[in-house]
Amino acid sequence: MAASRKLASFRLPPLPTVGELIKLYNLRAEKQLSQNFLLDLRLTDKIVRQAGSLRNAHVCEVGPGPGGLTRSIINAGAADLVVVEKDTRFIPGLKLLSEAAPGKLRIVHGNILTYRIDRAFPASVSRPWEGDPPNLHIIGNLPFSVSTPLIIKWLENISNRTGPFVHGRTRLTLTFQKEVAERLTASTGSRQRSRLSIMAQYLCTVHSCFTIPGRAFVPKPEVDVGVVHFTPLVQPQIRQPFRLVEKVVRNIFQFRRKYCHRGVEKLFPEARREELTQELLRQADVDPVLRPTELTIPKIGALADAYAHLCAREAGLFDYEFREELRLKRLSGKGETPADAPLGE
Ligand code: SAM
Repeated sequence: MAASRKLASFRLPPLPTVGELIKLYNLRAEKQLSQNFLLDLRLTDKIVRQAGSLRNAHVCEVGPGPGGLTRSIINAGAADLVVVEKDTRFIPGLKLLSEAAPGKLRIVHGNILTYRIDRAFPASVSRPWEGDPPNLHIIGNLPFSVSTPLIIKWLENISNRTGPFVHGRTRLTLTFQKEVAERLTASTGSRQRSRLSIMAQYLCTVHSCFTIPGRAFVPKPEVDVGVVHFTPLVQPQIRQPFRLVEKVVRNIFQFRRKYCHRGVEKLFPEARREELTQELLRQADVDPVLRPTELTIPKIGALADAYAHLCAREAGLFDYEFREELRLKRLSGKGETPADAPLGE
């Protein structure tokens, strides 16, 4: 009891400020690694508060850089913090922090896209999926260059309960370019509603916390930044494999300003397009003249269920890719042009 109170009340001793560390180690920001630093510890404390209580928590921080957010995580009472940083120049400054917080900070020089977070924490952290989330958090002021592929990877991990989610419903508190944060949290009918909104929201409760103006970072990025909190749902709102949901959503949103039947059609080879589109929309009870942005997640779930049903009946259907057919058509000089957007859009 006394020991846990001691752990929770730990504060870092006086250290050089983050700004001083940057000067001391001559840490000029590398644009290639999307380095925009937060030096104001009131702001990093505010980000950390969005995660909820970190008392005695296990935490993985993505891209600690000069360590501002890292300090806030330690001061919030985390017992075990693993930081994953790609740029070796930050390691000496992080070691200084680690010495100031003995036994609390593990430094990994690595790439968060390939790092095995599941192996970083003991099995004792795990909680049943159906129960409360484990006392394990992922927190990061993400590099813009990896934020979208990273959240897509983690969403797939959530759906398969793999990666950081082998331990249960691990919570995420992350920053994104404001526009991406808006897509992640956009509701049905809103202008920002996109593939990313559906993929995130069918698997998680997604909460937009607050916006950080670009001027708060050093160097200042061209955009503002949004802080987003994710808690995986006990039951995903769509009960189909991630890859199938992703395919349905990708096709629906490829003509995002047109009626949804235009995208749905592209799930089917040209020869059977009309017949199977009508059957799918009828089975899912979806109005073909709704726009993709107007479809609720239950409606998209109904489309995914109906598509799964058709795939089970029609051999080879799941492997059909409209884009491949389109590519062949383009080679022969015919074809239409969908909004050729990555999943982030
Ligand atoms: N956390 C620090 C802060 O808030 O001031 C730095 C944030 S900065 C936006 C992103 C950090 O992620 C940089 O330190 C950068 O070197 C690191 N980074 C970039 N790509 C990475 C990757 N693939 N894996 C791990 N770290 C990465």
